[in-house]
Order: sequence, then structure tokens, then C-alpha cells
Amino acid sequence: MTINLLDLDAASLTAFFAGHGEKPFRARQVLRWMHRFGESDFDAMTDIARSLREKLKAVAAVLPPKVVADALSDDGTRKFLFDVGAGNAVEAVFIPEDDRGTLCISTQAGCALDCSFCSTGKQGFNRNLTVAEIIGQLWQARHALDAYPGGADMRVERVISNVVLMGMGEPLANLDNTVLALRLMLDDNAYGLSRRRVTVSTSGLVPAMDRLRDECPVALAVSLHAPNDGLRNELVPINRKYPLRELMPACQRYLEKAPRDFVTFEYVMLDGVNDADAQARELLSLTRDVPCKFNLIPFNPFPGSPYRRSPALRIRRFAEILMAAGVVTTTRKTRGDDIDAACGQLAGQVLDRTQRTGRRSITLHLDRQEACR
Ligand code: SAH
Ligand code: SF4
Repeated sequence: MTINLLDLDAASLTAFFAGHGEKPFRARQVLRWMHRFGESDFDAMTDIARSLREKLKAVAAVLPPKVVADALSDDGTRKFLFDVGAGNAVEAVFIPEDDRGTLCISTQAGCALDCSFCSTGKQGFNRNLTVAEIIGQLWQARHALDAYPGGADMRVERVISNVVLMGMGEPLANLDNTVLALRLMLDDNAYGLSRRRVTVSTSGLVPAMDRLRDECPVALAVSLHAPNDGLRNELVPINRKYPLRELMPACQRYLEKAPRDFVTFEYVMLDGVNDADAQARELLSLTRDVPCKFNLIPFNPFPGSPYRRSPALRIRRFAEILMAAGVVTTTRKTRGDDIDAACGQLAGQVLDRTQRTGRRSITLHLDRQEACR
């Protein structure tokens, strides 16, 4: 059976090479070729002996997920759709800014956690992505942006300087693969990103937050969305399993080893649901003991969603209450609206296990994207 080398982090690649009687530095060389230089052809790995290349060709391959659509928004946001087989598609979104380029990637096809305002959740859960499918989004995006060393275009806005695991799925529900992919992002022989520039976003899986802290601490964003258990149970159903009295201490524990000294609380702004002045004040008292920043996300509607986005003035007023108490608060700019690349709108049409309409819906999705170009 052919092994996909994109599934292996540095340690497992070293073990793989040892199993074939090869020294650790060979693993390092191949890691560099694959991830630093984006090479998938063993014959192009010129400092590897021909005999080893032949051996590798017989047992291994470098297989990223296929890009099946690539849509560019008017604001420069670029969305990639990946076919991950069996009718499943996942997405990554590149967001260029003046001082950084952020790639938002997916960790699952669908999501089991069923938050009431999230289109991914509404599609149900299909499966966990493999390490190759997670890191492969970065691999493919770098190729598409021509941002590998020696690429034609190394302008700062083309370089992926930050990665956020905020695409489809719950990263901490696919923790093993997520951790291996994170290690590749941080590895100097691979992508060499700083821990502070890689952010995992979670809806609050408390035991997995502890494991992430111990196994591979990176910056953490927690999807809070409500100031009390009553409302959060409704919006983020996993709250029934891990309520706020467990989530807040888990955030504090995470900070003991985190590369940043604050947690980012994400808060989707839903008109008349969670955006009142009193709720902002309740949030301040809930988060009193957790060093944090707030990121307010204007709700992005999707077909059939029961909510409306809070008006801009309401969002501003809510932010002002938090800031007046000294909590740094940003409001996320809505980007890539014209290509459905905004938060919660990703891969509108993933195969729903119960409906089995995936093939058809992906085709529809691509048609829609083509129309947007
Ligand atoms: N499962 C993880 C990461 C993926 S979701 C999590 O929930 O944190 C990334 C962010 O997008 C989360 O904060 C999520 O709450 C938010 N989001 C989901 N649907 C949204 C929508 N329709 N509008 C705005 N933000 C949304
Ligand atoms: Fe899953 Fe996150 Fe969407 Fe909730 S918001 S359903 S955890 S992807």
C-alpha cells in the first residue's frame, strides 16, 4: 500500500525512514522538499540518492487534496474548494491584509456539534480530515498563491503568515490529526510558522483543550457567543456537556502554556438574541478572571438560517461596553461575501450523510462559484 507522506509529521517521517534503514537527516531532507519547497515529485528531490528515490516511489507518494474550485473575491479574498472524496468537499480561505496573509483552513467535512447559527453544523458530520488533507490545504494554497520560495510573487500580501483553524469543522473533535498538522505548520523544516500566528478555534471541548495545551499549544480562540448557560445551550449545544463553569477554568488552564497571554473570545452578533447591553455586561462578569480579547463576528446569514445580523450601530454599542471595561474588542470585517467565503458560509454544499446528495450539490456549488468570478 502506498503511504501518503503528507500524513506524517517530522517524528513519524523519521520513524518511517528508520523502518527503511535510513538516517533521520533523510527524513529532514524530504520534509523540506515537501513542505518548504512544495515538491511532490521524488525525482526532483535532487540531493536524495537515486536508489532512495526509487525506493520511495515504490512505497510512498505526496498526495494533497485536489483543488476543484478557486474563486477570487473583489476584496482579494480567495476561496479554495477541495475534493476529499466520496462526495465530500471542504474549503480554505486566504485573506490578504496589509501586514499579513491569513489562511483559514478546515479540519472536518461537516461538523457534529450543530450550532444553531452555523451552516457547517446544519449539514451534519461526514468525517474527520486526515493530516494530509489538513496540511494539504496549506500546501495547495501556497502553490496557488505562487508563494513557495522562488515563486514568482513574494509580495507580503501573497505570503501565508498566519493560519487559523476556523474553517469547517471542530478542530478539537479531530485532535490527533489536528495536532500532527499543527506540528508541521510550526516545524522549521516545514512551514516554520510562529505559535503565535497559528490559532485554533474551538466551541469549547474542555478535555481536548487541556490536551492541546499539553501536546501543541498555539493561540486559542473560543467560540463563546452567549454570556450564560441558558442561551449558550441553545446556540452552542456542546455547552450542555461542557458548561461555562467548566469552560472558563479550562481557558485559564490553557493560558498557563499558551504562546499568547490572552484567549480570544469569538462572539457572533445575532440581532435581538445575544446583542443587548445587559448581555455585554454579563459577559464582562463571566470572563472577569480570564485574560481575554473579544472578536465580534457579524452574523453571516445562509439559506434557511433563523437569525439576522445585528445592526452595525448595535455592534458598535456592544463593543463600546466591553472596551469601556478595558477589554480589547475588535469587530471582524466581513470579507469574501460575494463568494460565500465568510465565517459560517463555507462549503455550502457538503454531502449530508442522511441525504446523499453530495455529488449533485458540489456541482451546483461550483456553478455558483463560476458565476461569481
Ligand atoms: N468549530 C470551531 C471552528 C470553526 S467555526 C468553532 O466553532 O469555533 C469558526 C467561527 O465561525 C466560530 O466562531 C463560529 O462560531 C463562527 N461562525 C459559524 N457560523 C457563523 C455564521 N453564520 N456567521 C458568523 N460566524 C459564524
Ligand atoms: Fe461546528 Fe464550529 Fe459550526 Fe459549531 S460553529 S457547528 S462547532 S463548525
